[in-house]
Amino acid sequence: MSETESSSSRLTVDLGAVQRNYRRVAAELGRGVECAAVVKADAYGLGAPYVATALAQIGARSFFVAQVEEGTALRPLLPDAQIFVLNGLQAGLESECERHRLTPVLNSLGEIELWTAHSRRLGHSLPAAVHLDTGMNRLGLPGYEVATLAAEPERLQGLAPLLLVSHLACADLTDHEANSRQLQLFRSCRRQLPNMPASFANSSGVFLGPDYHFDMVRPGASLYGVNPLPNDLNPMVQVVQLEAKILQVRDVDRGTTVGYGATHRIENAGVRLATIAIGYAEGYLRSACGRGFAFLGDHRVNVVGRVSMDLITIDVTGIPENEAHPGAWVELIGPHLDVDTVAERAGTIGYEILTSLGGHHRRRYLEPS
Ligand SMILES: *Cc1c(COP(=O)(O)O)cnc(C)c1O
Repeated sequence: MSETESSSSRLTVDLGAVQRNYRRVAAELGRGVECAAVVKADAYGLGAPYVATALAQIGARSFFVAQVEEGTALRPLLPDAQIFVLNGLQAGLESECERHRLTPVLNSLGEIELWTAHSRRLGHSLPAAVHLDTGMNRLGLPGYEVATLAAEPERLQGLAPLLLVSHLACADLTDHEANSRQLQLFRSCRRQLPNMPASFANSSGVFLGPDYHFDMVRPGASLYGVNPLPNDLNPMVQVVQLEAKILQVRDVDRGTTVGYGATHRIENAGVRLATIAIGYAEGYLRSACGRGFAFLGDHRVNVVGRVSMDLITIDVTGIPENEAHPGAWVELIGPHLDVDTVAERAGTIGYEILTSLGGHHRRRYLEPS
């Protein structure tokens, strides 16, 4: 993608790094376990068309989106892939799903009925995933619907191929007792239902070990560099770099304050500040006020005062003028500062940092070599 000289913030997405992360996750898997890729929310804000194409190039065959329209948009780029729609099947969208060969993740007996009815109308079978809730209370068949399905397996007639899906609530908390409890419940539900391949693990679930892998895993965040093991070294490589330009540099007087609310007071003489072209409208979360930091070259600099809509202020005291000058790029996420650290400073998770980046920045995609 082109980058004009006038752009004042830029997001670089390293597609080779996405590929390396996919291979790293796949390396955890035994023979015959498929590694799908979750590309919902525009591949966590990084650009689903780019990400999905890069992953298909190295052999990814199954992709998960949240909504039907995300699936229809990806279909021309992934002519042979199986595209699953996590949010399920809403009445009226059956034809669109079928036309674009999307596989709905059916979240209730009602959705199963909609899809089998469509299959009967067409006179041929349709692919589906069936999502059992084992502990999220969010989407998926609740226990009483699983019992009905177990007693009446003919409700699945006309659906093929089938995949049985469930989702972990606490996979990133390695020792949480919910993990084994959900695993046991998933296994026991599986035994009661017609035999079909199964998928259970998200990124963190993959690292809970082979018991959690079944036939297919569904990593998302780890592909984009978020650490699936929050209490351990990150096995993933960073994928994004976010930079913004310095607009102005100034020497400030002792006793004055910085930004809205006058929350940051200059306590020392000789302080120099730089204002850079990024703010909460560009996905630099306001909750990072007083805690965020950035890098100017190899210098670590603190974000001071409130985060404004399109601006933040950093303390560049002591940094030479040939580095801290208008037009210089400041790193907000990148080689010095990973997405999990940025998230921790803003009181959130890497997922939210990535999906907040949106379309405001000049984007550059580094093609895999
Ligand atoms: C988002 C999602 C995933 C991917 O989770 P990560 O933690 O990003 O790896 C997998 N399965 C379901 C059902 C999801 O909603």
